[in-house]
Amino acid sequence: MVREQLEERGITDQRVLEAMRQMPRHLFVDEALQIQSYGDHPVPIGMGQTLSQPYMVGLMSSLLVVRPGMRVLEVGTGSGYQAAILAVMGAEVYTVERIRQLYVLAKTRLQHLRLQVNHKLDDGTLGWPEQGPFDRIIVTAGGPTIPLPLLEQLTDPGILVIPVGPSRREQRLMRIFKKEGRIHQEDQGAVAFVDLIGSHGWQPGRP
Ligand code: SAM
Repeated sequence: MVREQLEERGITDQRVLEAMRQMPRHLFVDEALQIQSYGDHPVPIGMGQTLSQPYMVGLMSSLLVVRPGMRVLEVGTGSGYQAAILAVMGAEVYTVERIRQLYVLAKTRLQHLRLQVNHKLDDGTLGWPEQGPFDRIIVTAGGPTIPLPLLEQLTDPGILVIPVGPSRREQRLMRIFKKEGRIHQEDQGAVAFVDLIGSHGWQPGRP
């Protein structure tokens, strides 16, 4: 998976590659889907949500430029796989999930793996103000705009990676740099993520 889907497509960050080599991806999905878990595609995790394609996890983790000891906020815990990768890379991880079942399952999973990750059940578009600011923020669901609380909770300098788009079916993967009080945006291309639902995301139940 790492050689064919990441290295051959240009992911070079050794910390990301090593973490993804180490972490058994099949432990993050239902037993019946484990056989598919290393494939070049997202995997369903229940509640209409997915574990992102391995390449996307690798790409987003590289774009974050994570160094050991950095405080990283993840919005959208899902299966807990992305949080696990960040933790193995040496980050101090804070992850927020809005769906209770996924929150409970991911928390239990990461505890069994003895990974030190901080979990919260909440609307992650509000960030985690009590624990901020964060050196890095990663959003693993697509919203209409960049949630302002996340920009406010980013350190200066800091990096935020988030899929943003006017439609619920496609987004652009944006890397946002905060530096000396200024915001600079970099477009990393088209992506398709599940909805970021919340006060600074899409409204639940609306098409
Ligand atoms: N990072 C996850 C993983 O490694 O499995 C994949 C995440 S999945 C593509 C997106 C997740 O974002 C879903 O679990 C969804 O419930 C969650 N989500 C959507 N809106 C959210 C919000 N406002 N706050 C927290 N989580 C949210």
